[in-house]
Amino acid sequence: MPVKETNSFSAQAERWTAKAQKKSLFTPGGSAKDFLKTPAVESLMYSSSVRETPDAIYALLKAQDRPRKGGLSLLGILARQERGFQGFSGWKKTLASGLRLLIGPLSHENAQAMRRALPFTAPSPLAGKAVTVGLGDRLGVAGAGHIRTIRGREAYPVLAQQSVRELNLTGRSYEEVLDASTWAVFQEGYEGPWGADGDHLKTEEWVRTALRIGFTMITADVSDYIRAQHLLKPEAELAGDYTRLDESYRRRIEAEYLPLRIELDTGEAVAFTREALMRTALTYREAIEHALRLYQAGAAEKGEGAFDFELSVDETATPTTPQAHAFIAGETLKLGMRVTSLAPRFVGEFQKGIDYIGDPKAFESTFRTHAALARHFGYKVSVHSGSDKFTVFPAVGRLTGGRFHIKTAGTNWLEAMKVIARTQPGLYRRLHAKALASFAKATQYYHVTTNLGNVPALAGLKDAQLPALFANPDARQLVHITYGEILSDPGLKAEFFAALQDHIEEYWRALQEHIGRHLDLLGIKGGANE
Ligand code: ZN
Repeated sequence: MPVKETNSFSAQAERWTAKAQKKSLFTPGGSAKDFLKTPAVESLMYSSSVRETPDAIYALLKAQDRPRKGGLSLLGILARQERGFQGFSGWKKTLASGLRLLIGPLSHENAQAMRRALPFTAPSPLAGKAVTVGLGDRLGVAGAGHIRTIRGREAYPVLAQQSVRELNLTGRSYEEVLDASTWAVFQEGYEGPWGADGDHLKTEEWVRTALRIGFTMITADVSDYIRAQHLLKPEAELAGDYTRLDESYRRRIEAEYLPLRIELDTGEAVAFTREALMRTALTYREAIEHALRLYQAGAAEKGEGAFDFELSVDETATPTTPQAHAFIAGETLKLGMRVTSLAPRFVGEFQKGIDYIGDPKAFESTFRTHAALARHFGYKVSVHSGSDKFTVFPAVGRLTGGRFHIKTAGTNWLEAMKVIARTQPGLYRRLHAKALASFAKATQYYHVTTNLGNVPALAGLKDAQLPALFANPDARQLVHITYGEILSDPGLKAEFFAALQDHIEEYWRALQEHIGRHLDLLGIKGGANE
């Protein structure tokens, strides 16, 4: 269906086509590429986006004269035939040469058509890749910065990564999340493999929905089925609960796990005492059953092995023991699930957007075992809430031998807010006030130990001092967890996005620097990834 054009971009489109015709682009012998590389035209588009196929040429056009500078981009196509793209009315026409010219919006329909026309703009499973990095983009505008960060590194990005909680808090859909990544990949001309993660999905319906839309990875969250009360129970009580499990199940796991001794390549071994087995089975049996339901829903939708399946047991209070890890791994294998990564709950605290809290030595010694277990069972260990965990990054890179998955998300929002603090202090002050007003509500969704008393009152700060707030862990968490509340205010949301678009290149540079520091400390080296 044609979309009505608006004045803000029609002038751009007019200039683009006028130049195209002047340069005899549309006559036989005229080279589209030569035309697109001329300085006048290049300034109207992202030159990295220009892609030629045997029968079409695609480019992402910039609408520079919009009221919001650097705002919306447009899709421009010259093609020999229709390819199912949607154009603005009046901007889908046949030129004298017989070529079709189309200028259209970055709509969902066009994103779908783009994924068909240029397959590198579609995500794919990344199971065989040693290092994969989740780069969640809650705002839908960080993608280009993420691609510039990871391009030319020995790692593969999961550019679309969002949980249902984040969808609800940002009012976005999985279609929008995936499309934003497709357009970022197109803009940057990144032709390497990339993934899309339906993060922390708890129901079969969400697994089916995410895969149907085109996501290539499912992170199955079974935390609601972990019966953690058994972890601390006295042994005598444990035995009573255990005997209530069905006998055939008990017989099977006792026969399998009591004689088992898993020799790890670190020299350690994992074995089960009867007590450990009882405790582990009581705690995780239902979670494993639920993982199977989620896995089967995915396999029925997409086909066995056609998607990455991460099992997450991280959102629970008690660290995952080696026995629990081994039991979960053994059972999922037995049940036929192809697990590509597993996210244990590690020792210490992985709170959002700040460094690791806890004893780094204790983290290292237990992480070493989890990493070795993951190697033993043939999947990657996955580190969630990986934003800003600078203290433990070197250990993650080293102890996994450079084979891991790590997820980041919230730090990208913090970088955006930092850009606002630097460039539009007045707006930042209002956003900050909104964060303070909604902090209590936001703690319903996120576990943090923030002390608001450590956040300086903004009234006492000069504008130039605002960016330094982002070096304060309590201020970081305040701003981090309130993103949903801030963006739920339509006026603030519009001002926030307009301000960010005005400084979008600065934002992408900030991401390159900040996420780049993550990758450096994780030991992710330069190398070809496309
Ligand atoms: Zn998680």
